[in-house]
Amino acid sequence: SAVIDIKSLTKTYIMGQTQVRALRGIDLQILTNEYVALMGPSGSGKSTLMNLLGCLDTPTSGTYHLDGKDVSKMDDTELANIRNEKIGFVFQTFNLLPRQTTLENVALPLVYAGLGRRERQQRAAEVLESVGLGDRLDHRPNELSGGQRQRVAIARALVNRPAIILADEPTGNLDTKTSMEIMGIFEEIQNRGNTVIIVTHEPDIAEHAHRIVRLRDGETESDELNEHIIRAS
Ligand code: ADP
Ligand code: ADP
Repeated sequence: SAVIDIKSLTKTYIMGQTQVRALRGIDLQILTNEYVALMGPSGSGKSTLMNLLGCLDTPTSGTYHLDGKDVSKMDDTELANIRNEKIGFVFQTFNLLPRQTTLENVALPLVYAGLGRRERQQRAAEVLESVGLGDRLDHRPNELSGGQRQRVAIARALVNRPAIILADEPTGNLDTKTSMEIMGIFEEIQNRGNTVIIVTHEPDIAEHAHRIVRLRDGETESDELNEHIIRAS
C-alpha cells in the first residue's frame, strides 16, 4: 500500500513581489518499504519536496496523504506530532550537538517521546550497536570520523522507529569508500522494512535505490525502476 500518496502538489514561495513556483504539480505514490532516490539539478525542487514529505512544511495546493492521513491540511502541532511519529531525517552536515556524546545525541529524540532516562539510553545504545558504533557511546562528534558522525545521525533518525527515513545528500561530505559504507547501512534499514527516500546528485549513490525519481523545474521529469537492481534481486 502507498505510505506516501501525493496528488497535484504545488509549492509557491512568496518573496516580496515575486513568486517562486518551486513545485508545479507533483504526483507521487511511494509504497511501504520502497527505496527511492530523488535526483535533479540544483533549484529543481528536491529540498522543497523533501520538506513537504517530512512534514516540515505544507503545500500551496494539492494533497499529501501519509499513512492515510491528510497532512496537507494539518496545523503546526499536528505536523510536529506526525513528524515525530513517522519520519527520521538524515542531513548532509550530520547536525549533531557538539557537546553531547554519541549516546546523548541519539537518545535526545526519545525525550520528546516521553521515555524515561534508563529506557532512552538502552534504546539509543541498541540502535548505535546496529549501525556499528557500540564501542563509541561516550565519544563526542569531534572525536569521530565523518562516516562515524553520519552513523550517529542515522542512529538518531532511527531511534523513534519511524516508518520513513528521509536523507538529504547524506554522503555529500564523505569520501567514496565511506559513502559506500553509509549506503550499505541504508540498504540494511530498507531490508528491515523501512521506506527510504534519499536525495543525491551522484549517480553512483542513486544506483543503490530501487527507483529513481528525477525533478526538473518543479515537475517530475522521470520516475523509473532501477533495472540494474531489479534484475540482480
Ligand atoms: P540543495 O541545492 O543542496 O538542495 P539549496 O541550496 O537549494 O540546497 O537549499 C538549501 C535550503 O535553503 C533548502 O532547504 C531551502 O528551503 C532553502 N532555500 C533555497 N533557496 C532559497 C531561497 N531562494 N530563499 C530562501 N531559502 C532558500
Ligand atoms: P533543490 O533542492 O532541487 O536545489 P529547492 O527546493 O531548494 O531545489 O528550490 C526550488 C526553488 O525554490 C528554487 O528556485 C529556490 O530558489 C526556491 N526556494 C527554495 N526554498 C525557498 C524559500 N524558503 N523561499 C524562497 N524560495 C525558495
